[in-house]
Amino acid sequence: MTGIQDPAGEASRALAGLRLAVVGYGNQGRSQALNLRDSGLDVRVGNVPDASFAQALADGFETLPIAEACGRADAILLLVPDEVMPEVFERDVRPRLRPGTLLDFASGYGVAFGGVHPPLDVDVVLVAPRMIGPGVRDRYVSGQGFPSFVGVHQDATGDAHPRMRALARAVGSPAAACIEMSFHDEASLDLFTEQAFGPAFGRVMLSAVQTLVERGYPPEAVLLELYLSGELAYAFQKISEVGMLAQLDYHSHTSQYGSITRAGRFADLDATLRERMGAVLEEIRSGRFAEEWSQARDSFPELRERVRSAREGIPLAQWERKARAALGTLDDE
Ligand code: NDP
Repeated sequence: MTGIQDPAGEASRALAGLRLAVVGYGNQGRSQALNLRDSGLDVRVGNVPDASFAQALADGFETLPIAEACGRADAILLLVPDEVMPEVFERDVRPRLRPGTLLDFASGYGVAFGGVHPPLDVDVVLVAPRMIGPGVRDRYVSGQGFPSFVGVHQDATGDAHPRMRALARAVGSPAAACIEMSFHDEASLDLFTEQAFGPAFGRVMLSAVQTLVERGYPPEAVLLELYLSGELAYAFQKISEVGMLAQLDYHSHTSQYGSITRAGRFADLDATLRERMGAVLEEIRSGRFAEEWSQARDSFPELRERVRSAREGIPLAQWERKARAALGTLDDE
């Protein structure tokens, strides 16, 4: 048998007899729907009529317009993009909720910051995989599972906790792989990674590229050395397995000596980084970021297009194409 084992049958017991609707058959929706079905649950899909709708049908699901799927469900997993969630919720979901319906989210954002306000007579739970959509499916099928942040925002039935745990297990996160927290904390941690850690890490990578290219090293070689070879990805894999400090043991003695003795030269950057990161976190926690994003939603496609066309012209993009072509990994375009 593939999939996450459930010897105690907790998933099937707490969700016994419930009809589930997965709303949104995208990155998370498809993987979660397949996992839930393989865990023995009764799953239907709600989606707008498009390619994802056709994919759900091809995958063998009863596939319906969103409102109809919700009308036929006792548990609803709302897996549409966060920015459209309030309107989908108000238009298609809320009118179909009954007292005791289980409403599940894969991100705390909608409820904590994004304008989704469920009525008080439904259970509201969070099962937020720390995993991208394809990984949610792959790691369920392989039996490895994946970690999730989970939580209960509202317990109308008195059973919200066991139902949340059962849902997490059925999606692919056994209890030992779950950390419980509030919707607000889950969303804040997620946004912090995207808005502070990611961009700061990106600046470090760009600074390293610039330092080397300015000193005459061939750009393709620089990119290969820093990240295109896959060595960095491999080191990160090891970090996730053994921790940031212990992974140093996998590097050569020369490498260990060099990084131990030079690390202190960058220590004075800590204060600046913490101050900037703290300011980003404060914007997130206070709701100012969410307010800004809701105002910017209509103009965002234009901003994204401008950034996409501008990035094709910058030297880094050309160096990357050349290096990837040399490596034979350039996709057919
Ligand atoms: P996707 O962008 O993959 O889209 C999800 C689905 O929503 C698609 O089927 C899409 O249809 C549909 N959709 C888009 N716009 C609308 C609309 N206006 N009305 C109705 N349906 C619409 O979403 P994700 O799977 O990335 O995200 C879903 C949730 O999961 C979010 O809360 C996100 O934060 C969370 N999450 C996502 C992770 C990820 O790896 N992506 C990781 C962990 C959590 P269409 O086919 O037309 O695009």
